[in-house]
Amino acid sequence: MVDTMRCLLVTKRDDGKVERTVTTLPLSDLPPGDVLVRVRYSSLNYKDALGCTGHPGVVNKFPHVPGIDAAGVVAQSSSPKFAPGAEVLVTGFELGAPRWGGYAEFIRVPADWVVPLPKGLTLRESMAIGTAGFTAALCVQAIELQGIGPKTGDVVVTGATGGVGTMAVSILGQTGYQVTAVSGKPEQADLLRKLGAAEIVQRDAVADKSDRPMLKSRWAAAVDTVGGVTLATLLRSTHPGGCVSACGLVGGADLPLTVYPFILRGVVLAGVSSSSYPAPPRPALWAKLAGPWKPRLLNELTTEVRLEDLEPKIQEILAGKIVGRVVVKISD
Ligand code: NDP
Repeated sequence: MVDTMRCLLVTKRDDGKVERTVTTLPLSDLPPGDVLVRVRYSSLNYKDALGCTGHPGVVNKFPHVPGIDAAGVVAQSSSPKFAPGAEVLVTGFELGAPRWGGYAEFIRVPADWVVPLPKGLTLRESMAIGTAGFTAALCVQAIELQGIGPKTGDVVVTGATGGVGTMAVSILGQTGYQVTAVSGKPEQADLLRKLGAAEIVQRDAVADKSDRPMLKSRWAAAVDTVGGVTLATLLRSTHPGGCVSACGLVGGADLPLTVYPFILRGVVLAGVSSSSYPAPPRPALWAKLAGPWKPRLLNELTTEVRLEDLEPKIQEILAGKIVGRVVVKISD
């Protein structure tokens, strides 16, 4: 058993500048926990990019190792639930935010956070799905829980070419929903159609800045990764009894809205938090993601990088330019 690990370390200098270096640290620097996992793959989510920049919403102490996702093989375990050699994945909870995360050859975590790798997924595929796909699945689940099925009406997905967006378009498309994809990347229309979108709409068509309390109703449900005016537009454009799953804020954290969509149309705003989603139902949702909801074109949607090559991808995701998912290969 080795006693050191390569990792991406985020540090803050005395002048306040945040730096990222790939370095080697002793395993004894890891936080306590039941299960030590040798990480094979992690992934890059928007929140990871924030963690890499030392964003105070993600990092509360320096030095920090980001990475909210990790998949690998159990190296040591004090929990009877996991034997050494078992393939597992961990997403969310405090992994990578604020606890040290998956951009390291090892993580040490509570047993409750660990999910056995479901049949039907490789470790790499599980990270191609990662928090983005898990969040998309939670958004679709929230829509289903409102009794909204493929026959109820169209579903709109914003930030459609991003991590959560591509996963949501794919899951909804293969489940039989008519999907409208909202994107700022017209050149990606073919990809969105292949993923399952029936219609593609430009971003500004779903960003109504007027103060009209309600707009013409267009969709039965929505998966929103953007927030701000976009989320307010979706809520004002949802059919009576419809549901908007809100998970993101790439376009803003505010919500300029009145209560009218809720009290006149009975629209449901379903908040989704993948990191705080409880442990017990996680394996069942992962089994769905490995089976009927396994996203289409997973390989085509995935770019693989090593820790040393992550920097340009961090800048791309912060600029909203990523298409699909980035998997980070941590060890062989
Ligand atoms: P990505 O960067 O992969 O995707 C975001 C997409 O949003 C972009 O590709 C782009 O798609 C679109 N976009 C970017 N900037 C803007 C903008 N200013 N206005 C409108 N659209 C924009 O990020 P993720 O998919 O990883 O995450 C998306 C959001 O969801 C983030 O806010 C993230 O923090 C949040 N999230 C929340 C989770 C939760 O549990 N609540 C879990 C995971 C993510 P296009 O060009 O196609 O429009």
